[in-house]
Order: sequence, then structure tokens, then C-alpha cells
Amino acid sequence: MRTIYYCFPDGRHKALTMSYDDGNIADRRLVEIFNTHGVKGTFHLNAGLLDTGDRVSSSEVKNLYTGHEVAAHAYTHPTLERCPSEQVVLQLMEDRKALERLVGYPVRGLSYPNGSHNRRIRDILPHVGIDYSRVVESTKSFSIPDDLYQWRPTCHHNHDLMPLARAFVNQSKPAYLILMYVWGHSFEFDRQNNWDLIEEFCEFIGGRPDIWYATNIEIVDYLDTLKRLKFSAAGDLVYNPSVAPAWISVDGEVMEIKGGSCISI
Ligand SMILES: [Zn+2]
Repeated sequence: MRTIYYCFPDGRHKALTMSYDDGNIADRRLVEIFNTHGVKGTFHLNAGLLDTGDRVSSSEVKNLYTGHEVAAHAYTHPTLERCPSEQVVLQLMEDRKALERLVGYPVRGLSYPNGSHNRRIRDILPHVGIDYSRVVESTKSFSIPDDLYQWRPTCHHNHDLMPLARAFVNQSKPAYLILMYVWGHSFEFDRQNNWDLIEEFCEFIGGRPDIWYATNIEIVDYLDTLKRLKFSAAGDLVYNPSVAPAWISVDGEVMEIKGGSCISI
């Protein structure tokens, strides 16, 4: 029997994604560093706080975050567990609506403000158009999320970032799909005066042909494309019912399955 494995785009087995919360003006410097090194990420914004204090302005959101994902972080950053469910729905829908008016695409991601969630909050999310939500507890590993409404990152940027980055880059065993997921707030680099840390990280990990650099939602959508692949009982045919292409390997040989096609493998 042959071994059929799911792959990331172009047959890769590694992906990197970043996740930054709150939309502080320090995002401008962070996005520039990401763009310089081809690193991609998701920015979780509170639409009700844009244009106030040290937050980015609504007029710059579309251009600033081009090439990255804009996602929700609730309208005014409430601790969701303390909110009545009606308020949770409003906080999420109003955040989505305002952000979507700015960026021009459906906003489908979330990170929990103050890391606050419970079963009641999580159960609301599929009904308000949220497809994933990031928590703050780290795994210190490179696992693929099992529960997208409790998506645990690899690490906060202040916790073993470079040792984990080196372990990730050195991981050459293609037996697993691996994902490095880093989160934080850009204002922390100003407060702790450690911009050199994220610069060193992006310079080290960026521009590598064996890593897929993706936003959070690109990973969610690609995993969904993989999940929807239909294999024949004999394992000799695969049909991709999605529009997006998918990649698998068959005994180590990488194959692309274009959207809508059925191929022999
Ligand atoms: Zn926050």
C-alpha cells in the first residue's frame, strides 16, 4: 500500500504564520519588517478603537495590512466571558461589519480579547461568521490546530522565539505537517525596546523555499481544501471539489490537484 500524505502548497511540509493583536500604531513598523522578509500574518483589530489613542487610523487599515489578514478582536475589546451573549454577538458582528467596510473582504478570524473564552462564547462563533479564534496559551510545539476555536500558538514572541525558530528550520523530517505560529502585540516591542528580536527572527526565518508563509485564514482555508479531497476506495484516484488547488505526496512524490479536477495517483 502506498503512503498518501497531505502537503502544504507546492508540496512543502512547513508553514509559518504570525498573529498580532490590538492594531497599535507600532503595527506600521512590524508590517514593514514582515514585508521586507516575506513573512505573513494576521492583525486582530478592534474597529471601535480605531482612530483613538495609539491605535492605527481607519483610513490606513486597507493599505497598511495589504498582503496580510485583517481579523476581528471584538468591537471594543471586552472580556467576552463577562458579557451577556447578546453583547458578544453585537461585539463580533459590529467589529466584522466595520472592518469589512474598510478592507473589502469577509472578516472571518478572531483572537479573544484578554484571552477570554469558554464553551458559551465558542459556541456562538460559527453563527456569527467566525471560522477560527486564537487563544493565548502556547504549545511550544509546531502542531496543526485540532480545534480552530481554541487555536493555540507555538509561542508569544518573548518566549523562546529564536530557539523555537531554529528547531523549526532544522526540522527536516517530512513525516509531519508542521506549523510555527507566533503571537504578540507590536507595542510590546516599543515598551521592551526589543525590535531587534523580531528583526532577527524575520531575517532568519524569511525567504526559505521550504516554508509556506501564510496568514491565519489562508491556513484555515487550505486545511479545509485538504479535508474536502475525495479519494477512491482503492486510493488510486483523487477528486478536488474546491476551486483552490491542493497538494499531496504519494510515496514521496508531490502532486498538485487543481481545483475541480480528478486525477490518477
Ligand atoms: Zn487585545
